[in-house]
Amino acid sequence: MFKKILIANRGEIALRIIRACREIGIETVAVHSTADASSMAVRLADESVCIGPPQSRDSYLNIPAILSAASLTGADAIHPGYGFLSENAQFARMVEEHGFTFIGPKPEHIEMMGDKVTAKTTVKKLGLPVVPGSDGSVATAAEGLKIAEEMGFPVIIKAASGGGGKGMQVLHEPSEFIERFNRARAEAKANFGDDTVYIEKFLGNPRHIEIQVFADTHGNAIHLGERDCSIQRRHQKLVEEGPSPVLSDELREEIGSLAARTVRELGYRGAGTIEFLYEDGKFYFMEMNTRIQVEHPVTEMITGIDLIAEQIRVAAGEELSVKKERLRFRGHAIEIRINAEDPSTFTPSPGKITQFHAPGGLGVRFDSAIYGGYSIPPYYDSMIGKLIVHGRNRGECIRRLKRAIRETVIDGVKTTLPLHEWILNQEDFVTGNYTIHWLENQLKNR
Ligand code: ADP
Repeated sequence: MFKKILIANRGEIALRIIRACREIGIETVAVHSTADASSMAVRLADESVCIGPPQSRDSYLNIPAILSAASLTGADAIHPGYGFLSENAQFARMVEEHGFTFIGPKPEHIEMMGDKVTAKTTVKKLGLPVVPGSDGSVATAAEGLKIAEEMGFPVIIKAASGGGGKGMQVLHEPSEFIERFNRARAEAKANFGDDTVYIEKFLGNPRHIEIQVFADTHGNAIHLGERDCSIQRRHQKLVEEGPSPVLSDELREEIGSLAARTVRELGYRGAGTIEFLYEDGKFYFMEMNTRIQVEHPVTEMITGIDLIAEQIRVAAGEELSVKKERLRFRGHAIEIRINAEDPSTFTPSPGKITQFHAPGGLGVRFDSAIYGGYSIPPYYDSMIGKLIVHGRNRGECIRRLKRAIRETVIDGVKTTLPLHEWILNQEDFVTGNYTIHWLENQLKNR
């Protein structure tokens, strides 16, 4: 097992990784920008190293600085968390070349899934159902228009190297196709440095359902059930839960085993998430994320398995500690993402937290790196924490979550907590009757 792990990330996930390390008995190194010198991760890690100025490109994306910090502190492995360098194959490769273990999949799998066109073709061959669309990338607007007309509108143009819900264009009719296609390519080039795009049928009423998969280097590959992340705004998740209110045990087992079989055949290692759209009883593969996800606590709560500890064990060459036969799903879990944003305009609201009180009680988990007196820097993502509840069933979870929100005090900045309270009170949410487009439609009419 590793003696010391360097955490190439910040915020709540850095803290989450420190917690797992401490329980296993591994020392930790927190790297941080100058803006994060007084962060909770820096306070709680065994050691810390400043790797640059506030801007992410000079600090959390600064590969030479991170590798130097690892050498300097004698770390033997690097955990990338999510975001930043977590899905950068070149980083994973460099980590290994410098003699450290990358806590994540093999670089070739990161590369394969990072290119969504390759990802789709690969999993399709392995038997996963995919969203109908262009066969690979689309080179010209004219070719794209032909494909769209054959397939039928609406369609969605997506960037092969896209991520974070950015750079997608939805088209309901052919008139603006050429112009929007070219815009999608230009945006893809500007945001991801790659102007490869592809086309998919735009599904009108899908849910977002993703399967957590895990594989070790001994040939074991399992699925740990699904998370339903259909409550979204601008293609970004706000609420995640498991099990999905619309999935039967049979369907779960069916899609879950397909997902597990896929990663087994790929020879994948570590944690991964296979994302699907689900409409009219059918699944359509969208993409695979080759890292731990923000919403992983939902799965931890219903399985009782520490997914970060499992990532570390697998990276150290151990077998998965959980066997399929012994895996049991218990109750229900819901996570809400708390962003420091105005809950109606969604403008970021960085600044000093004057008063803070965390919620507690049975079945309540608060994963965050904030504290009273902490100043939220303006340079990074606005998510400041996640509130997760676990209960015997969905109804109990919703009641518990509302109760926990009312206990939470985060003064000094605006947060999205009031929006979450509002969502939890909507009948459509309570009955589980919503698609990925539901929240945006509601916000328009509110
Ligand atoms: P990203 O990597 O940028 O998150 P995804 O491919 O995972 O991109 O898509 C993000 C979200 O965009 C999905 O959760 C869904 O809300 C929406 N979306 C993507 N593809 C389609 C589609 N074919 N039809 C309808 N909505 C889609």
